[in-house]
Amino acid sequence: MEKKAHILVVEDEQKIRSALRDFLEFHGFGVSEAADGLEAQRVVAEKRFDLILLDLMLPKISGEQLCTGWRREGMQTPVIMLTAKGQGKEKVTGLNLGADDYITKPFSLEELLARIKAVLRRTDPGRAVGQTFKFANYDIDIAALKAKHGSEEIEISKREAAIIQYFAANPNRVISREELYKQVWNENMSELGTRTTDMHIAKLRSKIEKNSADPQIIKTVRGAGYKYENEQ
Ligand code: CA
Repeated sequence: MEKKAHILVVEDEQKIRSALRDFLEFHGFGVSEAADGLEAQRVVAEKRFDLILLDLMLPKISGEQLCTGWRREGMQTPVIMLTAKGQGKEKVTGLNLGADDYITKPFSLEELLARIKAVLRRTDPGRAVGQTFKFANYDIDIAALKAKHGSEEIEISKREAAIIQYFAANPNRVISREELYKQVWNENMSELGTRTTDMHIAKLRSKIEKNSADPQIIKTVRGAGYKYENEQ
């Protein structure tokens, strides 16, 4: 059973807050609410969320201040900023201050749902693909650290498993080394990070690709990163 994702809605407009709660609960999420910045701060200190929907313009403490503060404290919960039209500049800074995505009001609820799912998939690949899943011709077992194909059984390391899980959760999308490094190693990119990422990809390819000089599972996208194509 997939565990229910819990979302915190931080929004001072009561109508929007209630509409968001109804909609998210209907789609199977657990929902908590905060009506201003102070309340958001208190709620976040008490409980762990899977995602926070954060209005940029809030009384007492702004969404911007909240997000910056949380990131400074090392909180990693994904944040989607809700911005009003015309807050173009804030939008850009919104992403710089550690938000994972933003959506401009008025937005459609379907669009918001798509963004929420994408961010959750990105930030929690385990939730998206589970512990056993298909990856190209392989059956991956994350707990056993094995990739199986027919009678062939390949042992994979924990890191390799995390890399596979991330690609499987994000098929048909170019993933930069920076993104991969941040997700799998949980660190920001550095020169060492680039080398580490490339070394792990090379090692993984030598295990799962027929010809690692011409990879067909985890492809290189020149100048951009890597991509796992899943035709299913
Ligand atoms: Ca507001």
